[in-house]
Amino acid sequence: MATFGTLSDRLTETFRNLRTKGKLTPADVDGTVREIRRALLDADVALPVVKEFTAKVRERALSDEVNKALNPAQQVVQIVNEELIAILGGQQRRLQFAKNPPTVIMLAGLQGSGKTTFAGKLAKMLESDGHTPMLVAADLQRPNAVNQLQVVAERAGAAIYAPEPGNGVGDPVKVARDGVEAARRQQYDTVIIDTAGRLGVDAELMKQAADIRRAVDPDEVLFVIDAMIGQDAVNTAKAFQEGVDFTGVVLSKLDGDARGGAALSVASITGRPIIFASTGENLDDLEPFHPDRMASRILD
Ligand code: GDP
Repeated sequence: MATFGTLSDRLTETFRNLRTKGKLTPADVDGTVREIRRALLDADVALPVVKEFTAKVRERALSDEVNKALNPAQQVVQIVNEELIAILGGQQRRLQFAKNPPTVIMLAGLQGSGKTTFAGKLAKMLESDGHTPMLVAADLQRPNAVNQLQVVAERAGAAIYAPEPGNGVGDPVKVARDGVEAARRQQYDTVIIDTAGRLGVDAELMKQAADIRRAVDPDEVLFVIDAMIGQDAVNTAKAFQEGVDFTGVVLSKLDGDARGGAALSVASITGRPIIFASTGENLDDLEPFHPDRMASRILD
């Protein structure tokens, strides 16, 4: 994975410098923590997350906590690994399904974050798990959005509920509500609602998303965030948390050359779990997110 490449190299280098030490002095620990801090900041990890992370690593590395099977350098690596898993959300969190179908999944995020692509990927993944998803085109902002979702649905072999073309701008809240009703009537077990995004956070967009959320009472609200977003991740994620109170995060474009800071900040900043990682433009490029595997990739 190109994302995290530099961070991964920097941390490896830091740990390599520790390897020759028989015993770690407080000065060694401080030096190491300083390098970790710089590597995380250079990877665009949000400052509060970096601070908390490095404080924990330092405290534990200086504590009496010892694992006799590991040398001092390995102990630091283990602590960093455990703390990385913690900021990435700890345990894996799976998608939650409703007791009474259809399960309603609403997508939110900035324009271009990868929502529409993710809708198709999720539909395909759900189908291969035996579910019957229906996509709902409630992004009526961009002229081409409905069409784009139709293309994605076709590629995924999924059903779609879309407003009739030529009906003017239309009411996305009504489309979302009618879409869920259509899925219920036609006995689809999952509904994936694509909503409009803008290039930046905007009050009108947020109100529309909040209105849709209220109207369809979703089981999951997934916030799709582009890993390339860098330091803007914190403000964007907070704005969407306030606006739509999302239940989980989808990290997209993890295949790109982003520095990874968004990925490392968003779960910790919002307290919401990352549920999926999107890793390419093809419909198969979607993985359930595992905090422990991601941490291992970073420390590889
Ligand atoms: P939306 O505006 O949020 O619906 O975003 P789209 O789904 O239209 O995606 C915007 C662009 O990002 C498109 O060109 C997609 O092909 C591309 N894209 C989406 N997800 C990924 C991903 O995981 N990796 C890469 N490399 N490109 C992606």
